[in-house]
Amino acid sequence: MTDTLIPEIDEARAEAERLRPSLRTRLFIDGDFRDAASGRRFTSENPATGQPITEVAEGGPADVDAAVAAARRAADDGRWSRLGPGDRKKLLIGWADRIEAHARELGLIETLDAGKPIADTVALDMPETAACIRWHAEAADKIYGQVAPSPEGTIATITREPIGVVGAVIPWNYPAQMAAWKLGPALATGNTVVIKPASTTSLSLLRIAELASEAGLPDGVLNVVTGPGDTVGEAIGRHPDIDCVAFTGSTEVGRRFLHYSADTNLKRVLLELGGKSPQVIFPDVTDFAAVAAQVAIAIFWNMGENCSAGSRLVVHRSVKDRLLEAVAAELESWPVGDPLDPATRVGALISKGHMERVLGYVAVGLAEGARIVTGGSRVLEETGGWFVPPTIFDGVRNDMRIAQEEIFGPVLSVIEFETEAEAVAIANDTSYGLAATVYTHDLDVAHRVARNLRAGVIGVNTYSEGDMTMPFGGYKQSGFGGHDKSLHAHDQYTEMKSTWIQLAES
Ligand code: NAD
Repeated sequence: MTDTLIPEIDEARAEAERLRPSLRTRLFIDGDFRDAASGRRFTSENPATGQPITEVAEGGPADVDAAVAAARRAADDGRWSRLGPGDRKKLLIGWADRIEAHARELGLIETLDAGKPIADTVALDMPETAACIRWHAEAADKIYGQVAPSPEGTIATITREPIGVVGAVIPWNYPAQMAAWKLGPALATGNTVVIKPASTTSLSLLRIAELASEAGLPDGVLNVVTGPGDTVGEAIGRHPDIDCVAFTGSTEVGRRFLHYSADTNLKRVLLELGGKSPQVIFPDVTDFAAVAAQVAIAIFWNMGENCSAGSRLVVHRSVKDRLLEAVAAELESWPVGDPLDPATRVGALISKGHMERVLGYVAVGLAEGARIVTGGSRVLEETGGWFVPPTIFDGVRNDMRIAQEEIFGPVLSVIEFETEAEAVAIANDTSYGLAATVYTHDLDVAHRVARNLRAGVIGVNTYSEGDMTMPFGGYKQSGFGGHDKSLHAHDQYTEMKSTWIQLAES
């Protein structure tokens, strides 16, 4: 059974209270929950109230060692890597089914822990998490090796093998989905994993790991170590017995993983990083309401805490005012409020510190001479939560800090252009290159601009990045070494082996 029914607010509040005593809060290592070796715990807080939810085990390097040892045993004895691909697929699909069946419980947990609207967590994040694992599982027994064209008397095969133990370090904005983007392909290709959630959002992943065990994944195949980045994250990055590390997070921290690897065992490093993505609007657009709806989703969905958020609106001067009017009308259907309320579309920012950072950028924008069209101040302060409404700056120049630096909040910078060449130059004038969108009815402009944009994920007349079949990764300082999603994500968790066989003459 699939439980993606979004509860009414009173029901959600009651269910959340009932859930609290059963929350999983300890490290998940070798198929079981355990305390951190140090016995330490840290508080996980509800961003919508500023109140504690529970205490979570604070792992450290000794716990990473234990998790890696369990993952290594599971990798070496073949309990997972040598399982037939069809059997691996079956177990992973069973796990995905359980995640989907628990979508409402997991969605509630994630809403409490991350401040994300319940309508998103229950109906989008959890079904998408399950779908991601299922998609990669389905591929497990459908990917073939190759036979090279070799001379008579020889056979030459090119095969893929699991890389071994994969470390994963992920952010707090889509806690379950970001985990699935790593776990789906890494596990489907036969690796074992040690994963660290962001310390602000540990709870959904711990329950998801328990569901993996219930679905029959062997002990040691999936291990979760909760705790801070500069201890647990660094220990994963530097661990000599981890073969590959997959990181999603800020460019600043991602950079460190290259150092960790270079300084230790040259483990493979895959980085999915930040962005400052442009939404380019040409003057021939006609349905302003439809474009405004996409523009709003691009920047205000998930409170703008989205790596591919369209945080720069690069719009033709002649249609700017009409478009901004349409965005203002669209925002009437974007209520800010209690994330447990199914009507809420803008929930709470992840933490007080992050809210202050976002509001700090609002002050920077004002000081730089940009004008606020809407939003710009904290709201719902009486709740104790960290709420900032959709905020739009007009009169932005692309060299301003609010146009260059990733704010990671609901803040849109509006920048005007006159010619196509100018639009492309502005869009590409950033150290990032994760995503970009272009809106036009002119097929030539659409193709030309899509080709000229230096970004890994392009949307034409939509914000959508496509489904699980499409790779997701950034150009420039938005990514390094690989991609999430699609079959390209499989290859990166494997080693390529060439085997040259000399046949004896008959
Ligand atoms: P972050 O870089 O602060 O943290 C990411 C993870 O790294 C967390 O688990 C954190 O605990 C850990 N970490 C922190 N310091 C560390 C250190 N010194 N060594 C090792 N690990 C450390 O990012 P965040 O604030 O959690 O997430 C927001 C960032 O993630 C944004 O920049 C966003 O664009 C990016 N992001 C990118 C994608 C993508 O697919 N490209 C997706 C989601 C988020």
